[in-house]
Parts: sequence; structure tokens; C-alpha cells
Amino acid sequence: MNQSLRAVIDTFEKHGYLHTVEIEVDPVFELGAVLFHRGHDKAQLFKNVKGYDIPVLGNLYNDYKKIALGLGVAPEDLQKTCLEAIEKGITPERVAAGPVQDVVLENGPDIKKLLPVPVWFEREQGPYISAGVIVARDPETGKRNISIARLRVEGGNMLLAGIAPTHHLHALLKKAEALGKPLEIAVVIGNHTAVLLASQFYVDLGHDEYEIAGRLLGEPLKLVKCRSIDLEVPAEAEIVLEGVLHSEDMVEEGAVSEFHGFYEYYGPCNRVSIKTVTHRQKPIYQAILPGYAPEHLLIGGAAIGATTCHALKKKIPNVTSVLITEGGMGRVHAIISMHRPKAGEGKRAIMLAMGHTNLLKLVIVVDDDIDPHDWTQVEWSLAARMRGDEDIFIIPGVKADRCDPLEKDLMIAKVGIVATRRPGDSLTPDKYIPAQAPEEILAKVKEQLDKY
Ligand code: MN
Repeated sequence: MNQSLRAVIDTFEKHGYLHTVEIEVDPVFELGAVLFHRGHDKAQLFKNVKGYDIPVLGNLYNDYKKIALGLGVAPEDLQKTCLEAIEKGITPERVAAGPVQDVVLENGPDIKKLLPVPVWFEREQGPYISAGVIVARDPETGKRNISIARLRVEGGNMLLAGIAPTHHLHALLKKAEALGKPLEIAVVIGNHTAVLLASQFYVDLGHDEYEIAGRLLGEPLKLVKCRSIDLEVPAEAEIVLEGVLHSEDMVEEGAVSEFHGFYEYYGPCNRVSIKTVTHRQKPIYQAILPGYAPEHLLIGGAAIGATTCHALKKKIPNVTSVLITEGGMGRVHAIISMHRPKAGEGKRAIMLAMGHTNLLKLVIVVDDDIDPHDWTQVEWSLAARMRGDEDIFIIPGVKADRCDPLEKDLMIAKVGIVATRRPGDSLTPDKYIPAQAPEEILAKVKEQLDKY
């Protein structure tokens, strides 16, 4: 299997999901504005970015269907594929050389001059690398971690890294600091779908996300050794920045966008100094429009849904899927599907989901005859199966994530809604038999629908 972003782009082109922007586009605000207005439309490949000879790709995964296409699976199999990848990874394979190192630039290149990193939003104070997959190693255990954090391009070879205190990269940095060692990182830009998605799973510290990527690919991910640091990066990636993440001399970030679509002020950020840049011949720069934008929400949402589902299934096997919705910012709303839940089991599933995935604050449970991607069916389910006095519960004053848009003193109310048939409902079947033509006639007409 071709493990490059280029192969994914070819697939998208074949399916009619790629639009090439030929006219010159300014990476300062204009490029982001095009991605914003093109919303759920095709992926956008900007061939002519003002001031640069490197093209920019954006809006690649702006619906769940396109994430599945990138992995080469049917949309309905996306979560199943992710669950298998969490359960049983494939160990990556070291190779001697790869196209990602065709060009090697040493001695701390000027990142702003080199890469067409977009400036996204009015109040942010610089361009942000938004699809940079960060590779690091646990200084105590030697285990790898792969994740995404925002990286603001400062002057020369310096970047600022915005790392959430709950993220594994933060834990690794703290360990390195305690040992008095620098934390080496590699920032990988222009990844295959499998690598980008793997970086988003909420798995335990020590779980090597490259193994998840391998299972998503269906074969070992091919890695090359970095040139100036002791880390490995995907051999087929487009661009790699090799450097060090510093814990001292933090820098105030100012306003930064978050998934809810507003600005946050998280305070001081860690500095990154880049030693070496490697890239393919004619590299492609991949960007994800940050803030409340489909691709930003759904790449995270796909992985959060799968990780939550994996945790739930261990305790409640009849949970069939967990969908993180786009309207719920790809982070805070979930729809759990269950097969014939027993009395009270829906509520238990909600509590487990909220306990596992701290960001979740509205969780709805539906039966597995409902398509959770179709909000009209979910709403029907609320109308037909939810008794408001018994099936809605609110837990006030729960510890919140710092990025919830409504958190107050780091607390939030959690809301659960069960919209499933109850075991007792089957005792009054008249109300629950669908009014329709006989099954065999419906099936026959469906099969021959083209002749009508
Ligand atoms: Mn991790």
C-alpha cells in the first residue's frame, strides 16, 4: 500500500473530491477564508500560494465519509476499523531511506521563509502549523507518542507549541524537565490519513500511535530515522521539522482559536527550536482550518468516538457505536447506539462515556435501528422513545475540560438523554409496529426500484 499523502490525493481526485485552486492566494487570511467558505465541499489544493513555491492542501477530511475514503474503507466501517486498530496494532518497520529525506536543510532553517504556513484568524498573533503530527519519546520508558498540538511560527527556526495540560506530550515534557534533559520532537507535515487519524486517539500513555496507524493501513508503517535527533518519522511523509521542545522561558501566546469557534487565552506556551528540516522533492504542505471547522472537528471526533466506544464495549457489550457529532463541536456531544438495551442500561452507558471522555457533556442514547448520522432519525427517536420526566438527567457541577465554551471555575453540567425502547414497550406492540406495506412487497419493490 502506498503510505503517502499523494496516494490519498489521487484517490480523492478519482472520486471527484478534489478541487485545484489555480489563482494566486495569500496565505495570510485569504487561504483560510476560502477553506471556510468551501465548508463541506471538495478538498482544496492551492497551487499558487503567494510568496511560496510549495502548494497547500486543506479541507481534505471535512466529513466522516472522506476520512473513510482516505483509509480505503466503507463509511459504515470507519468506527469498526478504528476499534480494531486500538485493539491490535501493527508494529512499524524501520527502512533505510525514504522520500521524506530527499532534501535535507541543516543549521536551523527559517521556517517562515520556507513553508507557506497560513495565518488563520484576525486576533491570532502569527501563522499556525495546524496539521503537524508531533513525534516524541518518553524519556523514562522510551515509548513513543504521536499527537497534534498547534505550533505558531515565530522568527527564524523558532516555534511556539500550545500543549494542553491533559495531553501526553505535556506529560513527556514534564518527565524530561525532571530529568534535566531536553525533549526532542519531530513535526511531521503531509501525512497519510492513517497517521493523521492515529495521532488523535485517546489511548493510554505508552500506547504507540504508530501501531494504530499500521493497523489502519493494514501493514507496518514504514519509518526512517531522523537526521539530527533520535526519533523515527514516516518515510513517505512530505515535510519533517526536527527539533527540541523547551520547558524553560515560556512565551505568552495571546488569543488562540479553539474548536468551539471562539478565542481562548491559555497563557504561556513552550518554545520549540528546529535544527533540521527534511522534505520530499516538490513537497505538499497540509493544513487543517482550525476553530469551528468541519475538518478540525471530525478528525478528532472520529478518534474520540472510536476510543469512547472501545471503552464502553468492555463494560457494556451491546453498545454498537459512538458518534461524536459535528454540531457538538466534534468534542462535546455524543450519540451512543445500543442493541436492545436493558432497563437502565442506557443511563449507565452515558455515565461511563462521560467518565471516560471528560469533554462530553451531552450524551444521547438511541437504539441501533436509528442512523445516528441522520439527525432527523435521532430527533424521531426523541419524539417516539424518550419520556422527558424519566429519560433526561442532569448532573450539575462536574469537573470540566478547560476548553469547554461554558465552563465556569472549571466545572460544567452534564446532560444525558435516553431515547431507546424499553423492555416493557414490547408488551404493547400495537404502538410499536411500523405502519407499512408487507415486508416481502417492500423488499421486492426495493430490489426492482429502477424499473418503476
Ligand atoms: Mn498518546
